[in-house]
Amino acid sequence: MSDSSRSTSMPNGILADRCHDDEFDYGIPTHCFCGGRAQLDTQSTMNPGRRFYTCQNSDDGAHHIRKCFDEAVMQEFTYLLGELHKMHETLQRHKVEILHIYDLHDENVMEFARLREMIAKKSDGIALELKNVLVAIFVLVAIIIYLFK
Ligand SMILES: [Zn+2]
Repeated sequence: MSDSSRSTSMPNGILADRCHDDEFDYGIPTHCFCGGRAQLDTQSTMNPGRRFYTCQNSDDGAHHIRKCFDEAVMQEFTYLLGELHKMHETLQRHKVEILHIYDLHDENVMEFARLREMIAKKSDGIALELKNVLVAIFVLVAIIIYLFK
């Protein structure tokens, strides 16, 4: 990749042969350390046609980002692959949690059915007891009426 490097003029006049600034950005740069936006440019000297990211203010003679397109894209892919792996792990965890929630739901449905059955039995029992009480009152009233007639 050294053949794609280009001499860059540093602010103090020292020429540096470099392709990018590792310390500033990883992946596809969006901004330069000067605050300017990164832009894609095409090399016209050393390796004509080779694309690289540079700063929108790169013509002012100061030091700015300069990063090979191929390297930036490979770093971005590596980063995105890592993010994709993390997302896959998160999805797997959520899948396990969802399956657990389905199990809990099934258990709740069975418990509700059991409780509903118990309530129905209790209701029948209460209705039967109420019916018996009413019959007893009726018989008692009938006896009282018969005795005091
Ligand atoms: Zn800049």
